[in-house]
Amino acid sequence: MPKCRSCNAPLKTPFCDLGATPLANALVAPDRLPFGEVHYPLFAWVCDDCRLVQLDAFVSRAEIFSDYPYFSSFSTSWLEHARKLVEGLTRRFGIGPQSMVYEIASNDGYLLKNFVAADIPCLGIDPAANIAAAANSAGVPTHCAFFGKACAEEVKARHGAADLMIANNVLAHVPDLADFVSGFKALLAPEGVVSFEFPHLLRLIEDVQFDTIYHEHFSYFSLLSVERLMVAYGLRAFDVEQLPTHGGSLRLFVCQADADREETQALRDLRAVEAAFGMAEERAYARFQDKVSAVKRDFLRFLLDAAAAGKRVAGYGAAAKGNTFLNYCGVRKDLISFVVDRSPHKQGLLLPGSLIEISGPDRIFAEKPDYIVILPWNLKEEIVAQLSEVRSWGGQFVVAVPRLEIIP
Ligand SMILES: [Zn+2]
Repeated sequence: MPKCRSCNAPLKTPFCDLGATPLANALVAPDRLPFGEVHYPLFAWVCDDCRLVQLDAFVSRAEIFSDYPYFSSFSTSWLEHARKLVEGLTRRFGIGPQSMVYEIASNDGYLLKNFVAADIPCLGIDPAANIAAAANSAGVPTHCAFFGKACAEEVKARHGAADLMIANNVLAHVPDLADFVSGFKALLAPEGVVSFEFPHLLRLIEDVQFDTIYHEHFSYFSLLSVERLMVAYGLRAFDVEQLPTHGGSLRLFVCQADADREETQALRDLRAVEAAFGMAEERAYARFQDKVSAVKRDFLRFLLDAAAAGKRVAGYGAAAKGNTFLNYCGVRKDLISFVVDRSPHKQGLLLPGSLIEISGPDRIFAEKPDYIVILPWNLKEEIVAQLSEVRSWGGQFVVAVPRLEIIP
């Protein structure tokens, strides 16, 4: 029986079964088609004890992360998010040239470069060799390793304890939470602060964001389950902010268990919100699969009706969440002719599983489809505005999550 990644209790209660799919970021080159694809179960449990929602780790972290094709510097809104975070943290916690800042999963240095510019000593830690090399050559000191207790002790001996640690969107990707969180405990100075950001499970459940479940995301945290995890390894949360990023995220501020920091009202308020939702009980998780199935049925009904009426449907956005969604729904190119994406690295490749071709956005204007399914629903407004010309031939936009919506 599988064990909980956080508290080690046996996992007995299914949360969501999305079938078997290839890795969501494993785009397929057309000449690799004859070799087939490896499918892994996409099955999420909820722990009866600490209530962490999680996947079995079928796929090793080395397979997923050692040459990760995603450079976060590509998104301008995310760069602005990072700049504001650095500004806020620096001001609130008095971070300056006397401090030491670490970022875990620092990517190509897009966030730490703000500290470099302010002459604040910092070190990035990232396991992807190609990305760590890019950061170093851009002037952001970066240590290439998987973060954990051993890595924390090594960098602490060389660079000193952390006054500030930042870990954005990495907690969900960690297979061994015990070793990872122990690393923060070991590296953090007695009055140091960690800022974690991760998608909020409450938003995932309420907005039926099942397409944010994919193999690279091992864990899905509520405030409840993340606080239990921190306390288990000698840390504690003292503040939380709710962010709109990734469909709704939490920014959790954490310190040593015995640090001199008071809990904020925001933290107490969010605990109360989760308690009212039943986050500590079975009922918060019980009907999620039914809601997911309803989204699938409505979307397939739309696609079948469109096909019967001779309408042409295209997709927008070749990101991970679109792949979970299309594969769970069993959609292939007979129902969605092609998907467009702005990234030139993806164009000409095929989506994993569905094997739908990825083209540049120009193809929409050349072929004038009747419907464009926006797969990254969190960018709906931005994409509708970008593609406003679609209306000139009567084209309409479609979003399927949390419920089917046709935008004329
Ligand atoms: Zn647990």
